[in-house]
Amino acid sequence: MKEVVLKVAQAGCAAGEAYFLETGEKTETSEVTDRNAELARYDSAVSALDRELSESAADSDGETAAIFETERILLEDPKSAGMVRQFIENDGMSSVSAVEKTGNVLAEEIRRNGTAVISQRSGDLNGLTERLVSLLRGGEKDIPAHPFILVAQELSPAQLSAVNPEQILGIVTAKGSPASHVSIIAGNLGVPYYYGSEEAIAEIRSGVRLVLDAGKLILDPDDEMYRMAAEAMNAAKEEKHRKKAAAEGAGIRTRIFANISSPQDIPALIASGADGIGLFRTELLFLNGAAAPTEEDQFIAYRRVAEAMAGKDTVIRTMDLGSDKQSAWLSLPKEKNPALGCRGLRISLQKEALFKTQLRALLRASAYGNVRVMIPMVTSGWEVDRVREAMAACAGELSDEGLPYRLPPLGIMVETPAAAVTADHLAEKADFFSIGTNDLTQYTLALDREAVGLESYYDPCHEAVLRLIGMTAAAGHRHGISTAICGELAANPDIIEKLIELGVDELSVSVSKVSATKAVALEAENRLSRKNRKPEPVSLAAPADGKLVPMKDIPDPAFSSGILGECTGIDPENGKIYAPCDGTVLFIAETKHAVSLLMADGRKILIHAGIDTVQLRGDGFTIFVREGDTVAVGDLLLEADLEKIRKAGLSPMVITACCP
Ligand code: PEP
Ligand code: MG
Repeated sequence: MKEVVLKVAQAGCAAGEAYFLETGEKTETSEVTDRNAELARYDSAVSALDRELSESAADSDGETAAIFETERILLEDPKSAGMVRQFIENDGMSSVSAVEKTGNVLAEEIRRNGTAVISQRSGDLNGLTERLVSLLRGGEKDIPAHPFILVAQELSPAQLSAVNPEQILGIVTAKGSPASHVSIIAGNLGVPYYYGSEEAIAEIRSGVRLVLDAGKLILDPDDEMYRMAAEAMNAAKEEKHRKKAAAEGAGIRTRIFANISSPQDIPALIASGADGIGLFRTELLFLNGAAAPTEEDQFIAYRRVAEAMAGKDTVIRTMDLGSDKQSAWLSLPKEKNPALGCRGLRISLQKEALFKTQLRALLRASAYGNVRVMIPMVTSGWEVDRVREAMAACAGELSDEGLPYRLPPLGIMVETPAAAVTADHLAEKADFFSIGTNDLTQYTLALDREAVGLESYYDPCHEAVLRLIGMTAAAGHRHGISTAICGELAANPDIIEKLIELGVDELSVSVSKVSATKAVALEAENRLSRKNRKPEPVSLAAPADGKLVPMKDIPDPAFSSGILGECTGIDPENGKIYAPCDGTVLFIAETKHAVSLLMADGRKILIHAGIDTVQLRGDGFTIFVREGDTVAVGDLLLEADLEKIRKAGLSPMVITACCP
């Protein structure tokens, strides 16, 4: 048994066998004869690593998934891929040497810049290089089938993706830091992570028993220590599962999505905890280049996003060009009022080839995730019909070409008053609605959204806009389709409760506002459910012996109309009137013919002896309680002289009213 004090990046206790992940074995530079075969080896190692990283991202969530997605972006970096290819093609290097050399060159470049974030990136790049090299050599060897404590000189997220996270009981490395990506992943997995002693780590062999506890690494512990540490580890795991299940149970009904404009936004999106993508603005793909993006360019971008979302809703909007989003290559004619001219879907329907290229890419990407296509600037149903026809034509082509595709659901953006007012009609043609409040405000209030000096007129909370939102959501619900809001209004904390009350099902906000919007929506839902909660029916005992008379037959409209709440009458056999429930005596009529009780849940019950008996001025009534008395069900409240009441020509009916 040997004890070593280490630094703690993630606290906790673990007991298990070590699995030592070998890294850093350098290769002699050697020249290859078949350069094409070497390039193919490199390509297949990159694909294998990309698959591993994307599976790791899909199996995790929040920050951890975001870290794996960032690694994918690093892996896809065209500069490093170009360098590796050059070393192979021009210098005849083996793929392993080319990857190592590229890693060294880039890491050195990054290190020269020198900030903490940059040096983290350099560590991640080293790890990526190591992992690629390992895959080129045939992958990690002898990974145990059972859970283990992962040991390495140095570790990166890419190397972690080589092992099943469920098998990791703890992590120990020679070099590390509490702020590293590996530390964040360990924290999210709920496993301890210790680091800091090269000599101690060098001594560890795979298979040896380890304990991590209170900042100490114990090599080869005795049985008792090992058993106790294993028990503490299992108890901590159970507690974590319990808390996770409880947190998941406290979820909200309104789904909170994120708006993105590029696959580069994915790591931040995943870290935000968004329930999906509510709006992928594809314009960026069209605006940045010197020409329209090809089908392949678009397919890669959409597929990347769809895969990263791992089954969650991924709403991709077709190009919303024109107006404020002009691109040089599209050379649209100058218009006097571009916001009212050829923009959004109108351009797509005019430029058929351009639109079909995008639709083909979207249909193909739909085979890789839960893609939902959305069209901007709709005003009439025939536009939706035209899009469906174009989608069907693309599907036919793809099927003839033998390319995998799926026909995705088609939603419309409700961002013109025309669409909102005819939402009932459009709901028959669309699979979902998403309200673009930025444009809906502009078109409803007749105000250019970029008008300078008129900002005070641009009010997305204007009653007219809110009514259109309400109409749209109501129409959606009548037709069984969901309504989202993807304009800026969705993130306004002052209006979220109103939007939910209007029937909006989803809010899609910028990535940085997801968690704040979730918190506000949760509070709003709780408030609304308290407000709308129907009171439990009251169960009351009969206050007198006699025959029950339903509310509608009580011969006094003050009671039968319901103004005084739910009422029942009793034709009494005798004059004794009892408390129908537990409560406090709130009020006794001066004329002694009526008593009211306050129940524990705040509701009030009125017990009224006879109809119009107020005119007897207390003659013939005896009261047995005082205001403020606590009474139990069945306690005698008052006694009425039925003969006297009848003689006065009045009805002796005893009425109980449960006041609202
Ligand atoms: C909107 O109009 O609210 C919207 C989300 O679309 P964009 O801002 O891209 O026009
Ligand atoms: Mg818009």
